[in-house]
Amino acid sequence: MNVKIPRSLLIGLRRGQLKLGGNCLSEKAVVTQRGAVLLGDSVACDAFDADRPLRVVTHAHADHLVGLRRSLRSGKRVLMTAATRDLIGVVNGSLPLDDGSVELLDYGETVEYGDERVTLVKADHILGAAQVLVEDSEGSRVAYTGDFRVDGTEPLVDCDALVVEATYGSPSFKRAFKVDVRELLVSMVEKRLSAGTVYVFGYYGKLQEVMQILRRADVCVPFVMPERVFNVSQVCEAHGMQLGGLTLSTEKEGRELLDGDLPCVAFYHMNTRKKVGLDSSRICVSGWEFRSPCRQIGEREHLVALSDHSDFCGLLEYVKRCNPKRVVTDNYRVSHGATLAREISRRLGIPAVAMPR
Ligand SMILES: [Zn+2]
Repeated sequence: MNVKIPRSLLIGLRRGQLKLGGNCLSEKAVVTQRGAVLLGDSVACDAFDADRPLRVVTHAHADHLVGLRRSLRSGKRVLMTAATRDLIGVVNGSLPLDDGSVELLDYGETVEYGDERVTLVKADHILGAAQVLVEDSEGSRVAYTGDFRVDGTEPLVDCDALVVEATYGSPSFKRAFKVDVRELLVSMVEKRLSAGTVYVFGYYGKLQEVMQILRRADVCVPFVMPERVFNVSQVCEAHGMQLGGLTLSTEKEGRELLDGDLPCVAFYHMNTRKKVGLDSSRICVSGWEFRSPCRQIGEREHLVALSDHSDFCGLLEYVKRCNPKRVVTDNYRVSHGATLAREISRRLGIPAVAMPR
């Protein structure tokens, strides 16, 4: 029997576009030119998209809040964890987070829209960070990792399409250190405290992770910090992180500790690195170090390779464990998406593209 197949379907099949629900499979996971990670038919993650009714914020870092004010004002349903909402509130105080658009989801909780179900799954990155899973009534599963460290992140397995972050997406970004970076950090701080104040520079979230590492290692000197770092730290404490002994640098006790170069740890945002603590011991925590776990970068300044992202091997390991049919690498937030896509295709045999191109 001869069956006449429409020309449009033939072209679609030749391109590998299998129709599932509204959009075909290759359109179920897309990163737009403006950084929105589109999943399924209704979800836009981490940037504004005019056509998507649901906006998901995976975590509170600025490059994942693109167009959030516009999403809130244009009546989108904006989904995030409570911790992410609280962190955004203290860092971006002017955003209208309380006007009813924001819906808070716990990890594992699901929101339904049309025939799609949206679930946030914990990602090990900063407090509140989430992966996003969108499933539809036909059984299609499309996911986005957000930013993550592979060790503490449960992979979203057997997806039809997966969007993966690509921060350290080049094979040269491998951290194969033999020493435990956390233990090294603790011993560096302890050693330098005998000479006075130790300044730690990093980004929000990472700074609080360092505080927690030090407290767990029984470093019990005061932690001194400016107001915004203090506010972020308080949110972290409210959501279960154990920091304690937080002192504002603007208050009498904090001023006396810093002015007298007395034993305490001062936590400052990386952006203020060239302005404060110039004559003290200084430690910068950054993932952008691959040669050694610790490197001297100034007379009394060291870089410690503490990262809240997977390195290249961790990204590949996640994709392998997830076993998706197709991968899209996020090429909007970094420029290593194309390299990572090529390596995923070559090493794992999984079709992968970088978006936007
Ligand atoms: Zn991040």
